[in-house]
Amino acid sequence: MTTAEDLYARYQEALYPGDLRDVPPGWMDIVDRYFEVVAPLMADTGYEVVTASELAGGLDWTWTSPLSCMTEKRHQTMDEQDVLLELRSYHTCSACGRPGVGWASGRTIVTACEEHGVGERIVDGKPLVRRTPHGVVRYDAAVDGLVAVPPEDV
Ligand SMILES: [Zn+2]
Repeated sequence: MTTAEDLYARYQEALYPGDLRDVPPGWMDIVDRYFEVVAPLMADTGYEVVTASELAGGLDWTWTSPLSCMTEKRHQTMDEQDVLLELRSYHTCSACGRPGVGWASGRTIVTACEEHGVGERIVDGKPLVRRTPHGVVRYDAAVDGLVAVPPEDV
């Protein structure tokens, strides 16, 4: 499994050692996929991670960069990659990185596989969607990408 140390070494321009200390081990691979796109795009822009931690079953991820560096293409790609990273986290076991679903134990909600899930499996027929500047999207695990949700289904 990919570790935080692997990612610090791989993305030295985008990550500072310690940035990923609160990210569960099972999500390092989706962070890796994020930086495969983001690191080259944001090289030399002063990109810095601000928040990177688990929140109610998802990866709460925010970053900052001087606004003057943000071109239209960067805005568009980052909007997409940020949503993709968050939605991937809701489909990935935070313990081992295998496909996961939501589990509720008391007030705690985690995303986990059958083996690592604790409590009751959350059964929700509706896919998780996110509103973006370019329409409403959901995550499609089969293609590991975002797909548009027709307005009548939102
Ligand atoms: Zn697992």
